[in-house]
Amino acid sequence: MAAAPVELAIRGGTIVTPDTFAPADIGIRDGRIVQIGGTIAAEREIDARGRYVLPGGIDMHVHLTPVEVADGTVKWMDDFASGSRAAAAGGITTLGNITFPRPGEGLQATIDNAAIDAARSSIVDFVLHPVLLDPSPERLAEIPLLAAQGHTSLKIFMILGEFDARAIEYLEAMSLAGQNGLLTLIHCEDACIISVLTQRLLAAGRGDLRHYPDSRPIYSESVAVARAAALCEAARAPIYIVHLSSREALREASRARARGLPVYVETRPLYLYFTAEKFEGPDAGLYIGNPPLRSADDVDALWAGLSTGTVQTCCTDHAPWSREQKVAPGLTIASAPPGVADLETLMPIMYSEGVRKGRLSLQHFVDVTSTNAAKLFGLFPQKGTIAVGSDADLAIWDPNLARTVKAAEGQSLADYSLYEDWTVTGWPVTTISRGDIIYDAGRITAQVGRGRLVRRGPTMQL
Ligand SMILES: [Zn+2]
Repeated sequence: MAAAPVELAIRGGTIVTPDTFAPADIGIRDGRIVQIGGTIAAEREIDARGRYVLPGGIDMHVHLTPVEVADGTVKWMDDFASGSRAAAAGGITTLGNITFPRPGEGLQATIDNAAIDAARSSIVDFVLHPVLLDPSPERLAEIPLLAAQGHTSLKIFMILGEFDARAIEYLEAMSLAGQNGLLTLIHCEDACIISVLTQRLLAAGRGDLRHYPDSRPIYSESVAVARAAALCEAARAPIYIVHLSSREALREASRARARGLPVYVETRPLYLYFTAEKFEGPDAGLYIGNPPLRSADDVDALWAGLSTGTVQTCCTDHAPWSREQKVAPGLTIASAPPGVADLETLMPIMYSEGVRKGRLSLQHFVDVTSTNAAKLFGLFPQKGTIAVGSDADLAIWDPNLARTVKAAEGQSLADYSLYEDWTVTGWPVTTISRGDIIYDAGRITAQVGRGRLVRRGPTMQL
C-alpha cells in the first residue's frame, strides 16, 4: 500500500547542512520533515531544481521590542511584525530577542510580557533572552524557574550600569545559569575605560563622531573578553560573547577555548563589510554600533574565524533607527544611537561576499547562520538542521539570483540600508516555517501571529 500523501514536497533541490550536500526530495507533514529521499506523494509541491535547500536561518540577536525614549521618539524602528517579515524575506525562520525588563520587572514577567506582543505579531518562531539588570537574590531565584520553562538563555551587559559595582552578584548569576543549562550572553566592553575615554575626548573638544573608535578602543573590548572568559572559568558556566569585533578580542576568546572553556563567539555583519574609515565621512552616524568598526585586519580575522570555527555564529544585532535619528546634527560620541538594520540582508550578503568569494564554505555558511546557534541555544535538532523529525524550517536558496539592495523595497521599517545599491547574488526564493510557506517569490505570504515562542532544552557545547 502506498504511503498517504504528505502535505508538501520540495522536489529536486540540493539539501545542504554542515555535513550534507546531496540532492533529495523532502516530505513535510504537520510542520515537520517526515521523509527525505525516496518516492514522496504530496498534495502540494515546490520545484527546487537548481536551488539549495538550507536550514532556515537562526538569528539569536535582535532587538524587536521598541521602547519610547525620554524625548518621545522611539528607540528601534522594528517590532516583531516588521522584523519577522524582514527575517522571512532573508531566509531566517527563528529569532532570539534581547528583552529588557521594564523598571522593577522580574525576569519571568519580562519574558511573559514580551511573549504576548511577539506572539500576536511575529510570523516566525522566536525565543526571548531576558536582560539581567538587577542581579539581586530575588532575580537570581528566578533562573531555575526560567530553565524549567524552556527559557535557557540570559543576557548580561558589562558595559551597562552597575556591572563593575555588582560583579560578585553577576558571577553568582552566571554560575546559577550554568547549573541550570542556560547560556549567558555577554556584551564585552569595559565600562570604566570607555567612560573615562569618552569624558576625556568630550572635554578636549573631540566629541564628534570621527573620534568614536578612540572612545571604545580595541583594548577596551579585549580586556572585557579576557575578563568574561575568567568569569566563565570561575562560574563553570558557558558564555556567548555577542558582536565580537576585533582580532585581539578573538585571540582572547580563542585562548580561553584552548584552555577548554565553553566560550563562544558571535560576530555581526557590520564588522565583516566595513572599517573605521566610515567614521571620517558625513554619514558617520549611520555606521555607529557597539563596539565600533575596526580595521581591515580585524575584518580578515573575523572571516578567518568564521571559516575555521573560532567564531561560531554571525547574528545581526538588528536594532535600526531612522536615518534622521542616526545623522541628527550635534550627535557626539556619547549621544550617537548605536544599532543598524541587517535582518533581511544577513544571509544573502554573507552568501554573496563570503561563499561566492571563497571566504567561507557553503557548509560553514550553514553552521554560522543556523546550526551552531541551534545547538548553543537549546533548539537542536528541532531547528538548525534538515532531518526527519525536525521542524520544516527551510530556506530555498537561489545561488544565482542577483538583486540590488534598496532599503525602500525591504520589509524592515528602517529607511536606509548600509548596503544601498550593493549587488548581491544568492537569495532565498521561498522561506518555510514549520511547513508553512511564509515568503515566496518576493512576497510575504504568512499569516500574522503564526510565530511561536519555542520551548528550549539546555545549551549544547560545541
Ligand atoms: Zn544587541
